[in-house]
Amino acid sequence: MPSLDPQRALLLLLRLTQELTLDKPLEHALQAVTDAIKVLLPADHISIRLLDQKRDALLSGARTGTGVGNRPMEFRRGEGVIGWVVEHGESVRIGRVQDDPRFVRPDDQKFPIQSIMCEPLFSGGEVIGVLAATSPHEEAFGEDDQLLLRLLANCSSPPIERARLKRLAMFDDLTGAFNHRYLSPRLQEELERAGRTNGEVSLLLLDLDHFKNVNDAHGHKAGDNALKHFADRVRASTRRIDILVRRGGEEFVLIMPTTGITQAHSTASRIQEKLDKEMIEVLPGVLIRQTVSIGVATWDSRESPEQLEMRADQAMYEGKRQGRNRVIIAAQSGTG
Ligand code: GH3
Ligand code: MG
Ligand code: MG
Repeated sequence: MPSLDPQRALLLLLRLTQELTLDKPLEHALQAVTDAIKVLLPADHISIRLLDQKRDALLSGARTGTGVGNRPMEFRRGEGVIGWVVEHGESVRIGRVQDDPRFVRPDDQKFPIQSIMCEPLFSGGEVIGVLAATSPHEEAFGEDDQLLLRLLANCSSPPIERARLKRLAMFDDLTGAFNHRYLSPRLQEELERAGRTNGEVSLLLLDLDHFKNVNDAHGHKAGDNALKHFADRVRASTRRIDILVRRGGEEFVLIMPTTGITQAHSTASRIQEKLDKEMIEVLPGVLIRQTVSIGVATWDSRESPEQLEMRADQAMYEGKRQGRNRVIIAAQSGTG
């Protein structure tokens, strides 16, 4: 196996560790690690899988090499070599996978694997994920390769964990919308920006109608799917600069920078009408219509973020009172 020039290897490692100190988003951190390993080791496929919040399923984080165009395989704790590494918190190096009972060749495996090498990623003494390298050749990895993989696992675990926690704190897992903690600082920031530039900001308060019935009639999973679908619909009807926040349960806030009342109202109507017209499949074979009530308020350039939010809230509640499935424009501030 041709080995990498040691100076080039060191430079690559140096660049990687520098990149990992930059506090980039999680995807970037993970990709930087798998990309670097692809150059450093005689592997044709590198992956990082991170444990989900329940610490049971290993979700694909980043992949480099052959087969990255295919849908990533997911493993559960204890499943396959990767699942074994999570379960035992130990590294693995296998030169002939057919001789190792831990190896499971999935039916839809799209690229050949003969050798595999894995290192657990640790944080605070707990396994948080697995770094894996595979090769189509037998006995592809030596002891030095394993040590290098361990070095990479050790130095990338803390930044990966930092980025993961930051992400968890910022986004709601279910819908991918921003977390409620993000609402107040972000709204404040947008109002300050609008104040400086004489710009406009609008706020939509969106609350799903009779959502409790979905859970009651079809179960929590159906409710979760309806929430996911709703967030996707809102994103599809809004711009990249609009900020969707899940304020709580089935209530969302959309912050619309540089937007006056006319445009905000038309966006709200588009969302409400679209939902009103479509049936969504919340479970296989279970179709429901999920409507929404929306309050719309535009910042009056003086009120606080809380006052703006309250006006949008009151408009939304007025929509509920009038029978739901509608858009209501908030009363001017100071006029109740
Ligand atoms: P209204 O039209 O007046 O808004 O009625 P509603 O049923 O939508 O409102 P209510 O506040 O009574 O009920 C909200 C429900 O949302 C109750 C709660 O169980 C459900 N819920 C909150 N968060 C989640 C979640 O993450 N998943 C699921 N499946 N349900 C959730
Ligand atoms: Mg509701
Ligand atoms: Mg509600």
